[in-house]
Amino acid sequence: MDYNISEEHQNIRSIVRTFAEREIKPAAQSLDEGEQFSYELTKRMGELGLMGIYLPEKYGGAGMDYLAYIIAVEEIARIDGSQAATLAAHNSLGIGPIYNYGTEEQKLKYLPNLCTGDGLWSFGLTEPEAGSDSRASKTTAIEIDNEWVINGSKIFITNGSVKTCRGTTVQTVTKDNGTQKEFTTIIVETNTNGFTQQRMHGKMMWRASDTAQLFFDNCSVPKENILGAKGQGSKIMLQTLDAGRLSIAAMGLGCAQGAYEMALAYAKERTQFGKPIAQFQANAFKLADMALKIELARTFLYKTCWLKDTHQPFSKEAAMAKLYCSEIAKEVADNAVQIFGGYGLMKEYNIERFYRDQRLLQIGEGTSEIQRIVIAKHIGC
Ligand SMILES: Cc1cc2nc3c(=O)[nH]c(=O)nc-3n(C[C@H](O)[C@H](O)[C@H](O)COP(=O)(O)OP(=O)(O)OC[C@H]3O[C@@H](n4cnc5c(N)ncnc54)[C@H](O)[C@@H]3O)c2cc1C
Repeated sequence: MDYNISEEHQNIRSIVRTFAEREIKPAAQSLDEGEQFSYELTKRMGELGLMGIYLPEKYGGAGMDYLAYIIAVEEIARIDGSQAATLAAHNSLGIGPIYNYGTEEQKLKYLPNLCTGDGLWSFGLTEPEAGSDSRASKTTAIEIDNEWVINGSKIFITNGSVKTCRGTTVQTVTKDNGTQKEFTTIIVETNTNGFTQQRMHGKMMWRASDTAQLFFDNCSVPKENILGAKGQGSKIMLQTLDAGRLSIAAMGLGCAQGAYEMALAYAKERTQFGKPIAQFQANAFKLADMALKIELARTFLYKTCWLKDTHQPFSKEAAMAKLYCSEIAKEVADNAVQIFGGYGLMKEYNIERFYRDQRLLQIGEGTSEIQRIVIAKHIGC
């Protein structure tokens, strides 16, 4: 067993860390406050090869493995959850289904632009009445002549309403006999008639990332826009979430790492009762627990990436990694705020943004309860 990180992975960490510290950090707080999506930072992530990082070069990707991608997300999340969300949703949920299930023609048509940072792609699964229970979807697609006619809506769709969003992969119901539904995934390009996007405002977290409602009103797309086969939709969406969970786990790990580093630095600097507060055992134990949990989270997440990169089953481990990394992000951010005392509650100190941003991680791409259901099924409960 070799726990050494390869030179290639160390390089990607160093490049992304430098970028995040130099270019994202100075802007993160004001983008968060203004709910402002940054096209410039998205473009920069494309220029650095982070969009489509795990795709082969023939589709415009950087030809790296999934671990490299996960390290990139971790490093961005160490500085800012919003930019990490844009990157992770685009790569895992946007690019993922087209790369894994698209025809060669679809891949060559869409992927090269999505690897540049110029174009984004979104993943339309969740509906107002279908969250954890994705089989409750109501958005329908009916075949008429040579087209799919789509009606319905989606909610909470990351990157769905930015002006550079080129399209979305939509789960639709193509048959419903009252007891059983057939699901099919369909590609809807942004400028299609009958398709509208609306940005959702007022999020507590990831405020600089884009979250949208999508509406389909007799939206017609060519028949060849089907992704995969008819009836394969649910499988495509759920398998996409397995890989996506690794990037949410990476966001939890990065968020925890960033919050821990801030708390440690502050605890060494802040003096009360004549000594640095890090020297009080109550604080030192909190920091020791943070360091321990982060180490365990990273080791397990990287092991899960290794399973995926070596084409072994990783669905159970992805649920475990997502659950563990997102739960420790909550604990670490909470204790980090405690170490900052009253200053931790002030916007001037970045730690309050980490405290807010981690909260989505126990909800998006399957809540913590749903991860436990997945794990419980895998272990035979
Ligand atoms: C910022 C943001 C970005 C998102 N991005 C996307 C995206 O890009 N694409 C997309 O399709 N979706 C996206 N989502 C949606 C997200 O995946 C859902 O919010 C999530 O799956 C939970 O669904 P829900 O919010 O409807 O909660 P519900 O399913 O209504 O759950 C409510 C509560 O009940 C619990 N619960 C539900 N069922 C069970 C059960 N069987 N057993 C135990 N407890 C249960 C849940 O764990 C939760 O605590 C995003 C959400 C947010 C907030």
